[in-house]
Amino acid sequence: MEQEKKIKLAAGFITQAKKIVILAGSGMSADSGLPTFRDKSGYWKNASIDHFKMASYTTFLNDPVVSWSFYADRISSYRASKPHLGYEILHGWCKRLGEDNCFVFTSNVDQLFLKAGFADQQIYHCHGTLDFMYCSDKSCQSRQTGLKHNSEQLLLKIHNGALPICSCGQIMRPHVMMFGDQSFHHSANDQAIERWNTFLQSIKRTDNLVVLEIGAGSTVTTVEDVTWQLSKVASAVIQINPNKPAPSESDSEWINLNGSALATLMALDDSLCHDFGVSQ
Ligand SMILES: [Zn+2]
Repeated sequence: MEQEKKIKLAAGFITQAKKIVILAGSGMSADSGLPTFRDKSGYWKNASIDHFKMASYTTFLNDPVVSWSFYADRISSYRASKPHLGYEILHGWCKRLGEDNCFVFTSNVDQLFLKAGFADQQIYHCHGTLDFMYCSDKSCQSRQTGLKHNSEQLLLKIHNGALPICSCGQIMRPHVMMFGDQSFHHSANDQAIERWNTFLQSIKRTDNLVVLEIGAGSTVTTVEDVTWQLSKVASAVIQINPNKPAPSESDSEWINLNGSALATLMALDDSLCHDFGVSQ
């Protein structure tokens, strides 16, 4: 089917939806200038640095100064980034449905959904967020008392080679899932997981659930697995990705839109307005 027809078909499902789930991977942030891990200009191919190695737990253990300076750089670039218009469009759709009827599940650690106006209660950051840190010792009690904010002062210290140290003497670590991670604080996400599960349990067939999978890759399948799980109860899955193919079969209508997040969301919003009379 031509892209234009697919856009109209997808927009039709969005107008019928009483609930929307947004499943976002790094492709969602790419239009805000944050590179994805795997595209040609992404973190993995950038300069001479092996970013897979940089983002691994082994590097954090063996060379925490290098590891923390990598994360401090990412924190700084994330803080300077702004959500693109695609976030605003999604926020507009969700506002129309009401806050209780939308949920964002994202592996992105950049908090752009929060910056775009989504409520904290509507988001599950499944790989953590770079804004926080905690003790790397899993048995340390300080991990239970809440996450510590990564302040500008802390970033400055890290840039000067000093590491954040817990009162127990162990190194603090960023609240972001690393490759081969052995001390990610899963319980820090407990409340978000509970809200997410409550939302999932509330979904009924008559909600005409629309699942929007945006910019999610297939190497780390955390987001994709949820798309697959929800396709069994959704009226439609709208998959937005520049080059990802649709599966050969699925339990719901599966609309594969090959394009960037920003351009495709703008086209969908345009169709909602002009083909279905939904005011922007
Ligand atoms: Zn500690």
